[in-house]
Amino acid sequence: MANDNVTYHSYDVVIVGAGGAGMRAAIEAGPHAKVAVVSKLFPTRSHTGAAQGGMAAALANVEEDSWEWHTFDTVKGGDYLVDQDAAEILAKESVQAVIDLENMGLPFNRTPDGKIDQRRFGGHTRDHGKAPVRRSCYAADRTGHMILQTLYQNCVKLGIEFYNEFYVLDLAMNDGKPSAVVAYELATGDIHVFAAKSIVFATGGFGKIYKTTSNAHTLTGDGVGIIFRKGLPLEDMEFYQFHPTGLAGLGILLSEAARGEGGILRNASGERFMERYAPTIKDLAPRDMVARAMANEVREGRGGGPNKDYVFLDLTHLEPAVIDAKLPDITEFARTYLGVEPYTEPVPVFPTAHYAMGGIPTNIKAEVLSDNDTVVPGLYAAGECACVSVHGANRLGTNSLLDINVFGKRAGRYAVEYAKTAKQVPVPENAADEVLAMLEKVRKAKGKEKVAQLRKELQETMDKNAQVFRTEETLNEAFDKIQELRKRYENISIQDQGKRFNTDLLEAIELGFLLDLAEVTVITCRERRESRGAHLREDFPTRDDQKFMVHSMAYKTENTDKATGTNIKLGWKPVVITNYQPMERKY
Ligand SMILES: Cc1cc2nc3c(=O)[nH]c(=O)nc-3n(C[C@H](O)[C@H](O)[C@H](O)COP(=O)(O)OP(=O)(O)OC[C@H]3O[C@@H](n4cnc5c(N)ncnc54)[C@H](O)[C@@H]3O)c2cc1C
Repeated sequence: MANDNVTYHSYDVVIVGAGGAGMRAAIEAGPHAKVAVVSKLFPTRSHTGAAQGGMAAALANVEEDSWEWHTFDTVKGGDYLVDQDAAEILAKESVQAVIDLENMGLPFNRTPDGKIDQRRFGGHTRDHGKAPVRRSCYAADRTGHMILQTLYQNCVKLGIEFYNEFYVLDLAMNDGKPSAVVAYELATGDIHVFAAKSIVFATGGFGKIYKTTSNAHTLTGDGVGIIFRKGLPLEDMEFYQFHPTGLAGLGILLSEAARGEGGILRNASGERFMERYAPTIKDLAPRDMVARAMANEVREGRGGGPNKDYVFLDLTHLEPAVIDAKLPDITEFARTYLGVEPYTEPVPVFPTAHYAMGGIPTNIKAEVLSDNDTVVPGLYAAGECACVSVHGANRLGTNSLLDINVFGKRAGRYAVEYAKTAKQVPVPENAADEVLAMLEKVRKAKGKEKVAQLRKELQETMDKNAQVFRTEETLNEAFDKIQELRKRYENISIQDQGKRFNTDLLEAIELGFLLDLAEVTVITCRERRESRGAHLREDFPTRDDQKFMVHSMAYKTENTDKATGTNIKLGWKPVVITNYQPMERKY
């Protein structure tokens, strides 16, 4: 331990994560303060770059639209668990968010008369559900790639300082106030402490708690895990979205844009089954409904393939030229990974773990909240790691690229505003100790268990027991398995004892975060005894607004909590309702 070099840095604002949310925050903060972005990936490798289909904004470029319709769709899509003040901001500020990107140089697809083109996406409708509306701005099926490249170029232009391939592993607090983040440098194995007046978490999602997922290998939820370990709450962790169209058996995503452009889901007998589940908007119903319908078709024996375990996405009626112009990447995925030609053959698809609606609770200024909505001064979160609750129980497609731009920008703005007058919270002398001890423990461990095996078993139990359908029984099974894996995690060892590029060591640490987040997910799923949005409890199949029209808040506790039987305590907090009273959700 004594050999570890610790380097100290000091900034006004430190942003953890260089995805869309982190870099949008950096662009906002950069001109006004000394800003650093600390990222475990090189910025342009962040998962935002994998986003395909588009970014919602009621520009009304191709047909009538309004921010108020967008707000309503977001609230209804989220099964009324959305904080409506936040959804209003998301929808209102969407137009400026697109214009910002346009001004930064993003090459959006255009209409023949030169306006930004827009296409349909699930759950986005005209006049409160009457018909699908064209609201999604896009750059072919590489929208996220374009956003990420554009933001990075603008960060470089502004001279933002990046610390790439630095893994933040802890948040140093002093007297309950954040003072620094502690990071591990991949290339050297050295430790860095970044003191800052404002700290922004923008660390993305944690799809790797599941086996079949659209998420990149790096999405292990470190930022969310760090906040939880500090005793701060996590909100709505039971709501995890399964995207309907993952390539069957693989989980690689085929964007909803495929259905936005006219693609149709069919079961083994060729029936367009969504007509039965959502007669008005059919294949463009929100993701939770479509994923459930698909899983149900398979359950009831109407799936395709040798094991009847998937359905089909049919694009064969679309002109190949349209496919090439608007869906080039995803059709290539179907050819490469399944050997299927989308021009002429329907593509086998099944729901894949995709997006965390829950995460670090924030208010509309992206300030992190602890008990009773108390602001943690100087701490911010934005993007998929955060829960400002614009997505509620189910996110609408294209609302996340919007979220990272709107709330990333807000995080940058308010972080700078705070840093202008705040004093640096003194960095405790022992700031790096917890991280040093955690790394040392893993390095020295001599146990028999292997990290990859434990991760595999974790992902398998989550896929089997906490996927689209859940019951008390399956959740108990997942819970017991996670307890077993936690014990076995204490008995791991890693092969690589070196200091340089020790990914072995970091994967072990990441597994720790995955175990924490999977456990919180399962416990919150178990306690929410109703069905709402992406959370379907077969033993409690209806929505229960009397009891559960509330956000869950999960805290790590010192002692075992009686109610959950673990070191996790649950609380609940009211949903912010402005205009829309909960109604039955029909499409
Ligand atoms: C395949 C796919 C397609 C999608 N398509 C769409 C779409 O068309 N429209 C839409 O709205 N949404 C889409 N989404 C969702 C959306 O892309 C993401 O939710 C969003 O981009 C997340 O952005 P972010 O900035 O929060 O996180 P990310 O882009 O994931 O970035 C996270 C950052 O945090 C850093 N980080 C993480 N842990 C640490 C750590 N310990 N230390 C330091 N840095 C760390 C990483 O290096 C990275 O830079 C898609 C998602 C996927 C997976």
